[in-house]
Amino acid sequence: MDFELSDQQAAFRDLLRDFARRRIAPVAREWELSGRYPTEIIDEMKQMGLFGMLVPEEFGGIGIDAVSYAIVFEELAKAWMGVAGILGSHSLSTWMLAKHGTAEQRRRWLPDLATGKRRSGLALTEPGAGSDLQGISTVAHRAGHHYIVNGGKTWITNARHADPLPVLVKTNPEAQPRHRGMTVLMIEQGTPGFTVGKDLDKLGYKGPESSEVFLNDCPVPVENVLGAEEGQGLQQVLAALEFGRVNIAGRAVGIAQACLDKSIVYARERHAFGRPIAEFQAIQLKLADMATEVQSARLLTWWAASALDSGRRADVETGMAKLYASEICIKAALEAMRIHGGYGYSTEFEIERLYRDAPLMAIAEGTNDILRTVIARHLVRDGRA
Ligand SMILES: Cc1cc2nc3c(=O)[nH]c(=O)nc-3n(C[C@H](O)[C@H](O)[C@H](O)COP(=O)(O)OP(=O)(O)OC[C@H]3O[C@@H](n4cnc5c(N)ncnc54)[C@H](O)[C@@H]3O)c2cc1C
Repeated sequence: MDFELSDQQAAFRDLLRDFARRRIAPVAREWELSGRYPTEIIDEMKQMGLFGMLVPEEFGGIGIDAVSYAIVFEELAKAWMGVAGILGSHSLSTWMLAKHGTAEQRRRWLPDLATGKRRSGLALTEPGAGSDLQGISTVAHRAGHHYIVNGGKTWITNARHADPLPVLVKTNPEAQPRHRGMTVLMIEQGTPGFTVGKDLDKLGYKGPESSEVFLNDCPVPVENVLGAEEGQGLQQVLAALEFGRVNIAGRAVGIAQACLDKSIVYARERHAFGRPIAEFQAIQLKLADMATEVQSARLLTWWAASALDSGRRADVETGMAKLYASEICIKAALEAMRIHGGYGYSTEFEIERLYRDAPLMAIAEGTNDILRTVIARHLVRDGRA
């Protein structure tokens, strides 16, 4: 058993680390606070091939392994989690297309998605249904060569830039079990009746937009059914969310590592009672716990990513990694704020952004309580993890 990255993975991590340190970290605080869209950073990520991370090489992607994929999110989130989010649902969409799309769908969309010329997202959540995806009410009725879609989505990351946007709908609202009536439609910008509503105000995760999407008598050609077969949508989406959990776990590790790094620097510089606060045992205990938890979360994330690389479903592994990494991330952000004292609360320092970004890690790609129920179901069913 080897807990180290391969030479190739380590070199890739160093490349990402250097990029994030030079191009993202210096502007993150100012751009995030002002609500500026990180266009220039996105342009560089396109050059680096990051929009094609999960796209096979034959379609112009770089097709990296899942451990490297987790590393991308850790390194970017260490500098600015929002920027990592721009790649998150985009890469889930490309993975779904590569895995489940027809040959024609892959040819049609993947090359432009790989370069970032086209971008994407993933539209599942509705105002009335988030965790309970089988409870969505967006419907698509077949009418000749089209599906006519009616409904709405909310909180959709990248919605304004996504083309095509995979949208989970019900093609048969009466189906039992309900998932048999669920389908993913690839909806392109400019389709009549498809509109992106307002960008939602949010605590953190600034950078990418999180928007409402409205679908009013929206005609979607039948050839835009992902995989060409109705009723496969929920399975396609749940499989993609396993990659989503690894990317959220990676982001959580990145935020937590940033909290630790900044806390160490601050604790050595800040003096109280005639000595650096790093010399107080109360501070040392926090740093030791943070370091231990960050490394545990990282190894759990790599383990879950390796399970994905084996090609099998990995609900439990990815669920555990996302659950643990996000919980220690929230804790690390709070501890970092305590270590920074009043300065931690100031927008002059980065800690307040890390603190605002951390809680989303417990909500996105399955809330932590939902993941606990998934893990527990497997434990009870199989009698082991
Ligand atoms: C910034 C941001 C970006 C997002 N981006 C996207 C995106 O790009 N695409 C997308 O589709 N969605 C996106 N989402 C939505 C996100 O995936 C949902 O918020 C999440 O899945 C939870 O759904 P919900 O908000 O409806 O909460 P609910 O499902 O209503 O859950 C509320 C609470 O009830 C608990 N709960 C619900 N059911 C159970 C149960 N069976 N057992 C135990 N507890 C339960 C939950 O754990 C939670 O604590 C985004 C959300 C945010 C905040």
